[in-house]
Amino acid sequence: MKLDDKGILIVISGPSGVGKGTVRSALFQMGGHDLVYSISMTTRKPRVNEVHGREYYFVSHEEFENYIEEGKMLEYAEFVDHYYGTPYDKVKQQLDSGKEVVLEIEVQGASQVREKMKDAILIFIAPPSMEDLYKRLTTRGTESQEVIQARIEKAKREINLAYMYDYIVVNDTVENAADKIMAIIRAEHAKVERTIHKYKEMLEVNK
Ligand code: 5GP
Repeated sequence: MKLDDKGILIVISGPSGVGKGTVRSALFQMGGHDLVYSISMTTRKPRVNEVHGREYYFVSHEEFENYIEEGKMLEYAEFVDHYYGTPYDKVKQQLDSGKEVVLEIEVQGASQVREKMKDAILIFIAPPSMEDLYKRLTTRGTESQEVIQARIEKAKREINLAYMYDYIVVNDTVENAADKIMAIIRAEHAKVERTIHKYKEMLEVNK
């Protein structure tokens, strides 16, 4: 048996517009570990180029609420008038098979994961500055002024919650940020509390 054969749940969050998606793509390109991305469910409409089952599972309000009622969500949140959530089944299955499961979610969801999965690692992606974040939110060009304003307000509240995370990674450059996350994953695997029980089992067997 391998010493650390269970995957780690990695939560990446941070304010809207900070570049979480780009950092996540860079992380997956680096590979190295058995990383898988957990595809969320949402009630918002797909943007141009978004595909059902790739970026999100796009579902109706009713379908989403059924999932909640049936207790099938690891976490969920309402964000700018829509539901977003992580179906639990697949996450569990992949963690059990030794994959590192990456969730890219907002902070309300991250705090629910903190409560439910004690050994998850929570990484907060921070902008190099507030000016940088405003610039990114306004130049993305995919949302109305109203939605941008709502996201800016939410971003401010989210940054105040960074204390509940295990790590803060500044997205100065995408490569740097992805590199740091990979280093965190490696270090987490080496943590005594993740591996000590396996050593104990080995010692028992070899007595
Ligand atoms: P967007 O509409 O730009 O794709 O996502 C809006 C926000 O929802 C982002 O901050 C994103 O990280 C977050 N989000 C995406 N999926 C989930 C999810 O499954 N759960 C939660 N709590 N937030 C999510």
